Amino acid sequence: MINALAIDTEEWFHSELLRGERRPPFQAGEATRKVLALLDQYRIKASFFVVGEVAERHPDLIRSIVEKGHEIGCHGFSHHPLWKLNRDLFREELGHFHSVMEGILGKVKIKGFRAPSFSLDNRTKWALEILVDFGYQYDASIFPVKLNPLYGVSGAPMRPYRISLKDVREEDPASPLMEFPTPPLVLGKLKIPLAGGFYLRMFPLSFLHWGLSRINRSHPFLLYFHPWEGHAETPRLKLSFLNRIISYYGIDSALQKLEFLLSHFKFGRVDRLLGL
Ligand SMILES: [Zn+2]
Repeated sequence: MINALAIDTEEWFHSELLRGERRPPFQAGEATRKVLALLDQYRIKASFFVVGEVAERHPDLIRSIVEKGHEIGCHGFSHHPLWKLNRDLFREELGHFHSVMEGILGKVKIKGFRAPSFSLDNRTKWALEILVDFGYQYDASIFPVKLNPLYGVSGAPMRPYRISLKDVREEDPASPLMEFPTPPLVLGKLKIPLAGGFYLRMFPLSFLHWGLSRINRSHPFLLYFHPWEGHAETPRLKLSFLNRIISYYGIDSALQKLEFLLSHFKFGRVDRLLGL
C-alpha cells in the first residue's frame, strides 16, 4: 500500500493560532531543506503544497524541490483559510500564486490544491469550481472527521474519490476533480486523526505505527508534515497553555518521528497515486 506524503511548505507563523504574527525570522527555506534531505536519504518523492509567499521569498527552494522530482502543489498564496475569502479573493490568491510559480519555474502545470487549515467543506465548496477553472485536477483538503469548530467534514469518504462540486461528502463520477482525503483511524465509533501536524507530534510512535498499519489494511493514508514542526529554531511565542501545546508540543522529536514513518511505510506523490 502506497500512502500520500504532503509537505505543507509554510512559515512558522502561518498556523491559524498565530494569525497576525507575520514577521521574521523567515525559516521556511532552512526548515524545508531538512525535510528534502530526509526524503533524499529514503528515496521518497512527495507532494509539496507551497504557500505562494514562501515561494516568492525562496525561489531556489522551489527549484530544488522540482529538480529532486517532487510535486509542487498549491497551499494558497497567503495561507488565508477559505472561510476568510470569497470567490473573487480566492481567484486573486490563485492568480498571484500561479504568477509567482511561473516566474520561478516557467510554464508549469499545478495539479493539486490543499486548503490552508483544512478549510474546504460545504460552506466553502464554491472554491472547487474555481480550482476547475484554473485547471486543477485534484484537491487534498478534506478531513473526514469533525473534532473542532474550525475544520472537518463528518461523513466524507476515507479513500480517494471523485468529489462532487455540489456536496463535498459525495462521490460524482462525472466530476473533473479527484479528492485525496486525510483519513483518521476508525475504531468502532471512534475516529482518531493520526497522520500529521499536532496529532503526529502528540501520539507516541508505537501508537502511530499501529494505527497507520491498521488504516493500511483497507486504504492509503495521507501523511502531512509542516517543515517548521521539525525545526528546533521555530520561535516559541507566549500563548495560552492549550495553544502552546497544540503549536509546539513535540517539535524536538517530530523529524525523528517522520524518519521512522518514512522507513516503515511506503509513500509517494499525491498526483502519481491518483494516476494523474
Ligand atoms: Zn497550512
